[in-house]
Amino acid sequence: MRTIGHFIGNKPVEGTSGRFAPVWDPATGARATRVALASATEVDQAVAVAKEAAAAWRSASLARRTALLFRYRELLVAHRDELARLITAEHGKVHSDALGEMARGLEIVELACSIPEKLKGELSTEVSTGVDVSSIRQPLGVVAGITPFNFPAMVPLWMFPVAVACGNTFVLKPSEKDPSAALRLAELAAEAGFPDGVLNVVNGDKEAVDRLLAHPDIAAVSFVGSTPVARAVQLGAIGHDKRVQALGGAKNHMLVLPDADLDLAADSAISAAYGSAGERCMAVSVVVAVGEETADALVARLASRAAAVRVGPGTDPDAEMGPLITREHRDTVASYVGGARDQGADVVVDGTGYTVPGHEEGFFLGVSLLDRVTPDMDAYRDEIFGPVLCVVRAGTYEEAVSLINDSRWGNGSAVFTRDGGAARRFQLEVETGMVGVNVPIPVPVGYHSFGGWKDSLFGDHHIYGNDGVRFYTRGKVITTRWPDPADTDAGIDLGFPRNQ
Ligand code: NAD
Repeated sequence: MRTIGHFIGNKPVEGTSGRFAPVWDPATGARATRVALASATEVDQAVAVAKEAAAAWRSASLARRTALLFRYRELLVAHRDELARLITAEHGKVHSDALGEMARGLEIVELACSIPEKLKGELSTEVSTGVDVSSIRQPLGVVAGITPFNFPAMVPLWMFPVAVACGNTFVLKPSEKDPSAALRLAELAAEAGFPDGVLNVVNGDKEAVDRLLAHPDIAAVSFVGSTPVARAVQLGAIGHDKRVQALGGAKNHMLVLPDADLDLAADSAISAAYGSAGERCMAVSVVVAVGEETADALVARLASRAAAVRVGPGTDPDAEMGPLITREHRDTVASYVGGARDQGADVVVDGTGYTVPGHEEGFFLGVSLLDRVTPDMDAYRDEIFGPVLCVVRAGTYEEAVSLINDSRWGNGSAVFTRDGGAARRFQLEVETGMVGVNVPIPVPVGYHSFGGWKDSLFGDHHIYGNDGVRFYTRGKVITTRWPDPADTDAGIDLGFPRNQ
């Protein structure tokens, strides 16, 4: 069986840990290959190579760094289809969705190409007679990224292009469930001319993550994944004096007001709930309908649309939704549908027990729609991370917003309405980091930053955009005096400078 290894110093490395994890083809349920799981030895090797590369890379000119990034972007565009196929093979999402993932990842490479603009710094002249002050930002050194299974290319691309553009070297630990896309991203970076050691990939699990968190030569850690692991990573990184941004799970609400365009709202909710089989941190998993009339009309529209979603292998051009990542995850997601029924929800569409002819062993699930869900039900309280959409009925706008704000998560939210005043009030009152107005998945473009509130993000910085640049650099302020050669009488003054 083929073994997926690591990529260290621009070379494939098999590793010596003797530990492996299976990589499945979710569409067939077959074990496709296996991935090596790093121990401390491989992590240390990658960090050592990254550290060795760091000194030369931080002083590589901005012109050189951006030339490499522009070349990298061209290679990614040329290999976009191949990368999308790798994503589909191991993650299961349909090809068009995988291409969308690549497009959103490319945005961050394009942002990184504009890094000279972002690193311009500030200068104040003559703050005191003959004295100038400048503020600059410098790279941190070696930084690490730990990424989840659900966007095997896009989330790594949220991190390393900005980090290396800022002059850092990078060690990436992708999800062991679908590692091939990240490895290919690193191979293409080598082909673009990234020097040895600038971008390294170490595959692994908790053991590799623990070593990255403890390693004294790692200055900062970016993490994206589930909330419990995000919290543990944040504490682990802080315990080892590292800067950290740890993005966690989500439960995103879409508020539908009585005046909304209900067809637009229903179309948007179906795409945002079931796209990528609901395995998106910005998926809409709860629709909150204000008023019984709104709820009835919306649920009718959702039900007919849900029944029409075409489920099949990601390679089938007619399929709109692929399988889930593993059999265990599929079964966990399915258990929430029965659980919600037992707890009193109406199961309007039941996607459990769904099979795709010819792919009976694949990790498929149909879409499920639950109505009259209440906040005490498990289907409401937990992040299901699958194709299950809950509808909660609220009496008023105020009741709906306080429900959303009581959630422990605060990634994204959306409001559907024709009333500008109501939308404005919602965007100011809702406690989430990203808000959509008649937009169901408000993932910010690359030149803004992505990040949630509450249990959806631990740390002070959102990811990519200006926050990404701040996260991967630290500030330095330089106060300079070049005495006027004509002034020979500076004298001695023991007082605190008064800047006159
Ligand atoms: P996960 O937390 O299981 O894994 C994420 C990463 O952490 C992987 O690289 C994994 O190997 C590693 N890991 C797993 N368990 C660990 C442990 N105990 N100690 C140390 N490292 C560990 O997440 P996942 O299942 O791969 O991804 C899905 C989750 O990610 C969902 O909760 C989703 O909402 C979240 N997510 C969040 C965002 C966001 O931007 N907020 C984006 C994408 C995904």
